[in-house]
Amino acid sequence: MKKGRLFILSGPSGVGKGTLRHVLFKRVPGLSYSISCTTRKPREGEIDGVQYRFLDEREFEYYVSAGKFLEWARVHDHLYGTLRSDVETELEKGRHVVLEIDVQGALQVKEKFPDSIMVFVVPPDLEELEKRLSGRGTEKSETLKTRLLNAKEEITFSRSYDYVVVNDKIERAASELTEIFKSEIRKSERSKDHDLL
Ligand code: ADP
Ligand code: 5GP
Repeated sequence: MKKGRLFILSGPSGVGKGTLRHVLFKRVPGLSYSISCTTRKPREGEIDGVQYRFLDEREFEYYVSAGKFLEWARVHDHLYGTLRSDVETELEKGRHVVLEIDVQGALQVKEKFPDSIMVFVVPPDLEELEKRLSGRGTEKSETLKTRLLNAKEEITFSRSYDYVVVNDKIERAASELTEIFKSEIRKSERSKDHDLL
């Protein structure tokens, strides 16, 4: 059985990662989204096990000490982590796994999976980012401020990524992202065929 590829999607809060991911999943077959764990409280409409697995700090720390995370990090004052077993099971099944994680987590994953493809999504400018984040209506003014402050530093890490996609217009950015995914999947399939010869 051919193993799947691992994709990492990062970018500042509110840049449009979730929005682009939803389009991407309709256009690229064989993708599997890894549902992260977090100690952040659910937003209105978020369901445990759908957007995230919501844990308290004690549960999260137990998972850390039991070595259950492929990566984990503190982001905007909360803990977030990716379960190792979920990712490994999906890759073994030949599915291409998408992690939507921050830059600290991305670098941890790249160390363990050097073949993973890292994509960073940037806003056209910081004013537009602020508009999107406040327009989404999910953040109180304090957390909005933290997320915007962190955005500048996060964007400086984009140079460690394989691809940087500007999310100006949803359709344009989604098409670019789709092409990146399809071409990376094609590349890995070609190299696997080659291995069989
Ligand atoms: P993230 O997952 O990166 O935190 P979201 O996908 O939740 O960001 O997007 C934040 C807000 O910006 C949402 O209200 C979304 O509808 C909007 N948005 C996303 N992409 C664009 C875009 N290209 N142009 C305008 N608004 C956008
Ligand atoms: P939010 O609270 O807006 O859902 O997510 C905040 C940030 O946490 C996002 O920008 C996202 O990249 C990051 N994040 C989500 N899940 C994980 C994870 O499992 N690990 C890491 N390191 N970061 C994550």
